Amino acid sequence: MLKKSPASATGLPTVKVSRRGASRLKDGHVWVYRSDLVSADGVPPGALVNVADERGKFLGTALYSSSSQIAIRMISPAAVGDLPGLLRERIQTAIAYRERVVRDTDAYRVVFSEADFLPGLIVDRYHDILSLQVLTQAMDAETVRQTVVSELSERLKPAAIAERVDPRIRELEQLPARSSGLIQGEKSSTVFSMNGVRFHYEALEGQKTGAFLDQRENYAAVAQYARGEALDVFCYQGGFALHLAQHCSSVTGVDSSRPALEVAEKNAALNGREIEWVEANAFDLLRDYADAGRQYDCIVLDPPAFAKSKRNLETALPAYKELNLRALKMLRSGGILVTCSCSYHVAHSMLLEVLAQACRDVHRNLRILESRSQAKDHPMLLTVPETAYLKCFISIISY
Ligand code: SAH
Repeated sequence: MLKKSPASATGLPTVKVSRRGASRLKDGHVWVYRSDLVSADGVPPGALVNVADERGKFLGTALYSSSSQIAIRMISPAAVGDLPGLLRERIQTAIAYRERVVRDTDAYRVVFSEADFLPGLIVDRYHDILSLQVLTQAMDAETVRQTVVSELSERLKPAAIAERVDPRIRELEQLPARSSGLIQGEKSSTVFSMNGVRFHYEALEGQKTGAFLDQRENYAAVAQYARGEALDVFCYQGGFALHLAQHCSSVTGVDSSRPALEVAEKNAALNGREIEWVEANAFDLLRDYADAGRQYDCIVLDPPAFAKSKRNLETALPAYKELNLRALKMLRSGGILVTCSCSYHVAHSMLLEVLAQACRDVHRNLRILESRSQAKDHPMLLTVPETAYLKCFISIISY
């Protein structure tokens, strides 16, 4: 039997957590909030630390943040003597997992932070370009960056690796400002494909790391039911719209971002599709279209996260309801409604309730065809509920 090496042998600083913090970790979560720390005196920002309960019992090894409300992110239940070695192993495991679950694409999330036991690191692959995001002090350390980049290069052999920087996150983590850019190679644009649809990718432009890869399996699922006239609301660069165009007689995509629509238009051309792109505020457009009596056979609603925190639920839920209500009014009999929410705080049951309320208000009803979530390359870790954030209901108007 393998014996755990004693934590004291690693020489790491120790952070003590309260009873509540310890019980959270025993339940399998990987975060401890600052309010549940008992002592972290003199622990440097971003340090690898041993975690102990109030009585000093070793609970595992974590990455420490001196500024975030999430002070501790566990990286292993065991003692860690060789962080670079552990990071390399974790990256290999993450790649092997994708080899098992990802199909029909050369674009997918390679590393999803906590869900891959690499808290604070996100890596997406777009054909031959990798896009990396660093979200914590620990992952920003130069030695960590070097290890991550060299392991990714060796295993995936990308033409380039780009880093996408979110200035707000660096500020929250009290990290010096840094700009987005290529950290390896020279290629910053490419074409990737998913489910037979092709997309342009610019590593240094666009939202998130480029595309909304978490919807990949939902695009394919929705395409199965789509027909007739379709409306893709909050279309961004055309993810749903281009999939709908495989089966629909006409497709309109709506977004408030002109740069997103410009890429959407290029994507349509790349796939030889004619799609109408409308730059508008979705709320105004849905109201105007519904008032004008427009009708569709398929409507997709994929808004940005309205509830970034629990406090926002009060305004977020009515917003979701309004969108769904207007879409319901415009669907023909037998039409398909696709309702998404990427807010973790909007639980599956809350979104269903909003949908039910909207149905009652317009005297219509729906049959849920599929109750879906995020693509499998964005794994949902059972004991870390925050890793499961995307909801996608595909329904059919029953009257
Ligand atoms: N469905 C897209 C992802 C949507 S992300 C895909 O699969 O790729 C949310 C989009 O909503 C962003 O493109 C953003 O520009 C747009 N957006 C945000 N607020 C909006 C509003 N009020 N009206 C229209 N679009 C909006």
